[in-house]
Formats: sequence, C-alpha cells, structure tokens
Amino acid sequence: MQNRDRINKALAARFVNYQNLISIPIIENSDPMRDVADFSLSADLAASALPSSTGSVLVLRQSVCERLLRAQEILQVDKPGYELVLTYAYRSMEIQCASFEKMKRELGLGDRTDPEAMERTHHFIAVPEVAGHPTGGAVDLMIVDADGNALDFGTGMHALEQDSYFFSPFISDAATNNRKLLRRVMQAADFAPYDGEWWHYSYGDREWAAYYGEPLAFYSQLPESAVAGFYSSAAVNVA
Ligand SMILES: [Zn+2]
Repeated sequence: MQNRDRINKALAARFVNYQNLISIPIIENSDPMRDVADFSLSADLAASALPSSTGSVLVLRQSVCERLLRAQEILQVDKPGYELVLTYAYRSMEIQCASFEKMKRELGLGDRTDPEAMERTHHFIAVPEVAGHPTGGAVDLMIVDADGNALDFGTGMHALEQDSYFFSPFISDAATNNRKLLRRVMQAADFAPYDGEWWHYSYGDREWAAYYGEPLAFYSQLPESAVAGFYSSAAVNVA
C-alpha cells in the first residue's frame, strides 16, 4: 500500500461510525426549527454541491442558529470582517432515506439491513437513524474574508475526496490553518466537528453526543412536515 493510501486509511478508521452512534439514546427537546435568514447569518446555497432540500431556505434548530451567531462573534474578535457562510442545513428524513437506499443499491448491498451493510453504506451516506442533517442540528459551512472571498480549505465544499478529511496532511499549511480556525470558533460555540468532512459541524445530534461523550442526544430526525411553512414543497429538489 502506498504511503498516502495508508495515511488516509488510518484517518478514516478514526471517524465516528454507525456502530458508535446507533446506541446513543435521543430525548427530543422540541427546540423549534428556524429560518437562518431570521438571524444575521450569511448563506450561499450556490456554494453547495448538494441538491437543495428546502428550496432557497436554510432551516436549523433555534439553539443551533444562536450558537452560530456566537461562533461568528468569536471569529470576528480575531478576524474583523470575516464571516461564517452556511451552505447546507436541514435535510428531510424522506430525502435521507431515499439517498441512503440509493447508495446501498449502488454498493450492491440491495435489501440487506445487517450491521455490516449499514456500516459500509454509512461511510458514504449516513444511515437515516443517525444522520445529523435531518435533525436540524447539523450544518455545512465555510469562512469568507473581509472582501467576501472564500478562504482556502484545501478542497471545495462537499468534495467527496480524501483531501477533505479534516486532518489530511496532503493540503497546504494555509488550508490547514483555515480548517483549524473554523474548528476553533465552532468548538468554542459548542459544536462538534466531523473529521471526515472539514465543512460539517453539529450540535445536539448523535454525532455531537458521541464526540463529547455525552450520554444523550436531544435532536431527533424530523420529517419534511416539520418544516412545512418555511418553504413551498414545489421548490424542493429531491434528486
Ligand atoms: Zn454536512
């Protein structure tokens, strides 16, 4: 095995996985869903490589929006004029289930529901019962500088390649430092990172509980009806 492959394999072996997450109980706390536009948070849906799941709106739990504002304040103490930019937020359970089943079929795992089939599929698309985006607690984001230019994070947003691993040693020092800046401000505001994707953070979901060793998660996965009223279902792209 090449050195690069060996390092990437070792990094991936440390990511939180389906087995780590499924045993964490969820006690839903009914924190309401909110349109992020109601908070002074910047969004750039065009920067997302994923199909929109709520039309032109990004929806997250209220406490998540409040913590993002705190992360933004912390960022601006060190870097005046810099801004967090959200690219992806809530995704309905319906979309998560459809995407998961599609990936499972593509992997040739068909109707299997055993732990190994779930784990192998989870590596690419989260098992719906443990997925963060359908809880409204997970967000994908980046940072722009005072001129509005995106910082260099080593790969594009949502690039499904190994250089997107947070601790990839195969990116520039500048990109490494920008990833660390994002992680520092997000963790200071209570978010948990996901080491497989530099852009993904969450609060209150099972990944958050697993990362911090919390006994419980408090955001459960929600169906599309939970965000009815935020957007027209006609605008939803389920592709
Ligand atoms: Zn994400």
